[in-house]
Amino acid sequence: MDLTQNVRAVQEKIAAAARAAGREPGEIALCAATKVQTDETIRAAIAAGIRLCGENRVQELTAHLGTDAYAGAEVHFIGHLQTNKVKQVVGNVSLIHSVDSTRLLQAVELQADKLGIVQDILLEVNTAREESKGGCMPENLPALAEQAMKCPHVRLRGLMAIPPVSTLSGSNRKYFAQMRHFLVDIIGKMSDNYSVVDCLSMGMSGDYEDAIAEGATLVRVGTALFGPRPYPAGPAR
Ligand SMILES: *Cc1c(COP(=O)(O)O)cnc(C)c1O
Repeated sequence: MDLTQNVRAVQEKIAAAARAAGREPGEIALCAATKVQTDETIRAAIAAGIRLCGENRVQELTAHLGTDAYAGAEVHFIGHLQTNKVKQVVGNVSLIHSVDSTRLLQAVELQADKLGIVQDILLEVNTAREESKGGCMPENLPALAEQAMKCPHVRLRGLMAIPPVSTLSGSNRKYFAQMRHFLVDIIGKMSDNYSVVDCLSMGMSGDYEDAIAEGATLVRVGTALFGPRPYPAGPAR
């Protein structure tokens, strides 16, 4: 496996998918999903051109921050977040992708208030209504978005989804299209002075090109950069 080559290949595919959709390649951020990777691999990825890392587990985030492994890149939290671990995440990452309940939103708001900061967040939506997955149900999204916009120490930036592991090419396009509609709905309901909702975090190794075709502004890619992980496929929760 050649990390440098993989980074370049993924960047090229992102650019091609963007152009095919009539979009600018620069509109799409590549987030390297670094779960289970070592400090050494993360540093190599950054040396190879990665500018954004996405961490899933609080424990790994804390460890990599402690060794300054992300130096030269921005860090996002992309995994399921438990309310009791909010302290270790808020203020340590530039974006939390996975706020999916009022309870978690309030915990993030409280911690950001304590730190005197404004924390950028995305709301995670369970587009495919999968029992096993995090994310709020689509019908609860408008209320949650409204609550988020009222939190003075939280800034809602957009939405995130983890649709089913795609087996067939194109099988997740309908979910990606739904996400785009959800985002448009939220933007339509915002007041004019709240205009920072522009992020659609969707698409992983198996389907990021489809996600870009449907409007993704950030794709989270692990396997296509780092190779298969040493445990069953799919996002770790
Ligand atoms: C692991 C993970 C990814 C990347 O998955 P790959 O299929 O390896 O590209 C993306 N998003 C989240 C939330 C993840 O946990």
